[in-house]
Amino acid sequence: MGVYLLTNENLNQHAQDILSRLDDQKKKAISAQEVAEELEKFLEYGVPVKQAKQTLLKKFGVNTSVPPDSVERTLLADLQPNKRNVKLITQVVSINPKDIMVKGQPRTIFTGLLRDESGTLPFTAWDKPAMNEGDIVEIANAYTREWQGKVQLNFGNQVIIEQKEKDVLPKETFEPKKVTINEINPLVGTVEMTAKVLSIEEKEITVNQEKKSMFTGVLGDSTGKIPFTAWKDFKLSKDSTILIKGGYVKSFRGMPQINLDENAEVKKQKKQIKESDIPTRSLHLFELDDNPGMYDVAVSGRVIEIQQGSGIVLRCPECNQVLREDGCRVHGKVDGIPDLRIKCVVDDGTGSVKTVLNREQTEKIIGKTMDECKQMNPEELHSLLNESLFARIVSMNGNSLQDFYGSTFLADNIEVVNEDVEKKVDHVRNLLEELE
Ligand SMILES: [Zn+2]
Repeated sequence: MGVYLLTNENLNQHAQDILSRLDDQKKKAISAQEVAEELEKFLEYGVPVKQAKQTLLKKFGVNTSVPPDSVERTLLADLQPNKRNVKLITQVVSINPKDIMVKGQPRTIFTGLLRDESGTLPFTAWDKPAMNEGDIVEIANAYTREWQGKVQLNFGNQVIIEQKEKDVLPKETFEPKKVTINEINPLVGTVEMTAKVLSIEEKEITVNQEKKSMFTGVLGDSTGKIPFTAWKDFKLSKDSTILIKGGYVKSFRGMPQINLDENAEVKKQKKQIKESDIPTRSLHLFELDDNPGMYDVAVSGRVIEIQQGSGIVLRCPECNQVLREDGCRVHGKVDGIPDLRIKCVVDDGTGSVKTVLNREQTEKIIGKTMDECKQMNPEELHSLLNESLFARIVSMNGNSLQDFYGSTFLADNIEVVNEDVEKKVDHVRNLLEELE
């Protein structure tokens, strides 16, 4: 037995790759199963998988000395689902690591956004692709799938990425799109916008052993607020109104934010946006489904479920994840740190959202400290949580973020609405009554 044996799934994927590069006549003459068996023979002799594939391709008459250069470039807007050997010439707008669960194991993949003169498209890569934000690249051997009616672009282990000069793409590719904050979504690419700096904070980071300053904060306009990160010092100051050209949109757990790097232009504006004109957007809950991540929005609704995992929990001292019976999913057996929380579902009749109240919010709502809760037996505590929150109307301010299971609302502020003075939330109540 060789050391290069693969799982069946991997083996099949490699077989499919080989098959996809054969001409039509040969494709008809051999099945994926047969290719996989041939490949397995090589692997059993200890031949590395890459070399085994090359050898098989040669055997099937494929010239492997050059990458599939005959393939023509496709524009992002023209991409069809379920294609192999996709070739693109694009700029990398953003690239982000993303933690997912694969067969119960955490794994880091990479997602991001590409653009060319036809538009933008997100991609998913199983390993870190050899490209950075801002790079112009030719991508060969990518493949597409379809998910929820949309084309998904994927980079598997066959992907070839080559750096290109900026002039391979027409100028209009790089023109920013004029937007207001409520129009910004993770697919918008680069933007032109006028906004007020509501807050700014300098942070020191180390890049390649060099100390650098970066700036994070919040921007606002008459349609809402959005976080930003500046990778160079644009001499921004709190309360100034600025015109941004060429900032790009990146998302963190589904929540868009503006990034300003050396390609962005920032100009101070004379005409100021008034802080009182910048709203906290008030949303119905169904709107959170369309926009998985939203910064600083206000929602309200009735608590329809207190979920399991509420009450006293133990967290991993390494990664802060809540421990399961057998310890941390990543760090195994550890001494957990106690915490208090409520996980619940809030519904306003148009939609619902999961929310997690932290220790401070939970203590305030149930009127007991965590130490007092630790003295109670779990059933007593559970009834207290229910009495305090179940079927109550709450109003919250905060951010909605996307996680493994959908979107979660993280409230900066949560209040139980006294239903005797509920005129303020009439619209919510009406919606709920319609359902009853
Ligand atoms: Zn852990």
